[in-house]
Amino acid sequence: MSNLIKDIDIISGEEAQACDFKTTADENTGKSRKLYIESYGCQMNFSDSEIVASIMKENGFDTTSDFNQADVIFLNTCSIREKAELTVRKRLTDFNKAKRTKPEMTIGVLGCMAERLKEKLLEEEKIVDVVVGPDAYRDLPNLVSAAEDGNKGVNTFLSREETYADIAPVRLNSNGITAFISIMRGCDNMCSFCVVPFTRGRERSRDPHSIVAEAQNLFSKGYKEVTLLGQNVDSYKWSPEENNKARLNKKEEEVSTVINFANLLEMVAQVSPKLRVRFSTSHPKDITDEVLYTMKKYDNICKYIHLPVQSGNSRVLSLMNRTYDREWYLDRVNAIREILGDECGISSDMITGFCTETEEEHQDTLTLMDIVKYDFSYMFFYSERPGTLAAKKYEDDIPLQIKKRRLAEVIAKQSELSLFRNKLDIGKEQVILIEGTSKKSDLEYKGRNSANKVVIIPGGDFKIGDYVLVKITDCTAATLFGEIITVNPIV
Ligand code: SAM
Ligand code: SF4
Repeated sequence: MSNLIKDIDIISGEEAQACDFKTTADENTGKSRKLYIESYGCQMNFSDSEIVASIMKENGFDTTSDFNQADVIFLNTCSIREKAELTVRKRLTDFNKAKRTKPEMTIGVLGCMAERLKEKLLEEEKIVDVVVGPDAYRDLPNLVSAAEDGNKGVNTFLSREETYADIAPVRLNSNGITAFISIMRGCDNMCSFCVVPFTRGRERSRDPHSIVAEAQNLFSKGYKEVTLLGQNVDSYKWSPEENNKARLNKKEEEVSTVINFANLLEMVAQVSPKLRVRFSTSHPKDITDEVLYTMKKYDNICKYIHLPVQSGNSRVLSLMNRTYDREWYLDRVNAIREILGDECGISSDMITGFCTETEEEHQDTLTLMDIVKYDFSYMFFYSERPGTLAAKKYEDDIPLQIKKRRLAEVIAKQSELSLFRNKLDIGKEQVILIEGTSKKSDLEYKGRNSANKVVIIPGGDFKIGDYVLVKITDCTAATLFGEIITVNPIV
């Protein structure tokens, strides 16, 4: 069993997300001071770090990839599972030495952990100078400057309006081809296991015109793919009168030009047929047929949906407060298959060992996976988070060993299904967007097909950012392999 658990720790989403962090690349635009940012957790955090870099750039900072060179170090943190927070605390100790040799260095903790722990973080982690929540990044220059004068500071104000719509993100770690665009912030769902509504505040949608302008700007700079980001993109809703959530007591039909997610998707798809559009995350309770038909209408909207189920059992889903049941979820999957066909990629998030989950209920997750046949999943064992509804209402009663064993079963099932789904692609012709060279060899290139699967092809007469029509020749559970048919086909 101990070997098995070690393996799980390596391959589960828990470990992957907790240990995965991105750092800033070197940027030299002649600014006098250096900023180093490490971003943990979800894509939203990586996207937020690009806003932070932009705010700091306006205030005299270029980014560096070497924290020893930095005047300011920021850790943009994640609180979603306990392990994510422990990783950040451990990482802070690595900065001790750097701070000893350069005492004037400012160290900031940003993001969800900052929001959750507030002043407590300053008390517990002596090395930290500033603590800033996700809605207070405009205050960073002031807080850093106060810290440089010896005054540590905290700003964890959560806003109902802030969307950073006017801030042009500095693209960090960019391949110059694919970029994230944040379309909304916060979350109004109260999934009982989840800390996000507490750390990222109320849901608010960003002005669609600023989103389209950002997509146009990226396309004009050579980017070929944008991913629209939100915790629940299907509840995107914006109108000038509504000003996000303040509806001024108007009925829907009285509000002019209410833009929903399907409308926004169409607006971004129309930027150019050569700009691919992706989005994440879709909530099963909110994803509409209108969104699916919009996806079908535009070839450049990628046929891939991340539709986290969390559990395949209706009682557990109810305890999780997901507000849909197994039947509803399967109905949504049927709608995807009917409208977009079998080629559409579907992925999920799964939590094993949620409070009171029985063996039979765990089996329901496995049977649901068999029915849906996910292409990919992020899989976690339940980690109780202080302050959440589940922490208040239910006992975290499934022993860790059992949570991990169930997780191992879910991971094994997903590997089987990924291989099954990938094998179906063999012999098919697919357009991929070349994103870079393969990890294993500079002579091979990697691209992504519409369904979000990585395809490895040999080098040829193309460059990064080109579309290539390939024939899939082989696969593993994680990767497709192909041969080139045409470079830059009409897309
Ligand atoms: N908004 C997205 C949704 O509703 O599916 C997910 C956002 S959350 C950042 C990513 C995933 O982390 C969730 O889908 C869930 O599977 C997992 N997660 C959240 N809280 C968790 C917890 N307390 N323990 C284990 N996994 C958790
Ligand atoms: Fe968390 Fe649920 Fe909101 Fe996703 S939808 S961020 S899981 S509360």
